[in-house]
Amino acid sequence: MVWVLVCWRGRSEIYLLCGSGLGFGDYKMPAKVIAADCTGCELCVDECPEEAITMVDEIAVVNADKCNDCGDCVDVCASDAIVVK
Ligand code: SF4
Ligand code: SF4
Repeated sequence: MVWVLVCWRGRSEIYLLCGSGLGFGDYKMPAKVIAADCTGCELCVDECPEEAITMVDEIAVVNADKCNDCGDCVDVCASDAIVVK
C-alpha cells in the first residue's frame, strides 16, 4: 500500500493506494486562516456553505467541526489568507 498526497488549487487530500486502486476515501483537512494576511473583508464568511467561518477581532476563524473542505473560501479570498491542506 502507498499513501498518495494530492495537492490541487490550494487543497490537499491524502489517498491510500492499494491493489484495487484508490481506497478508504479521502481524509478531510479543514481550512485554516493565516491571520497575518487576513484583511477582515468577510467575503469568506458569506461564501462558506457550512457557515463555518466567523469573525473574531476582525480576523476570520474557521470552525473545523463544520468545515467540509470544499475550498470555496480559498477561492474567494483575494488576500490568499486561507489554505486547505
Ligand atoms: S476572505 Fe480572506 S481576507 Fe477576507 S476575511 Fe476571509 S480570510 Fe480574511
Ligand atoms: S473549506 Fe468550505 S466549508 Fe470549509 S470553511 Fe472554507 S468555505 Fe467553509
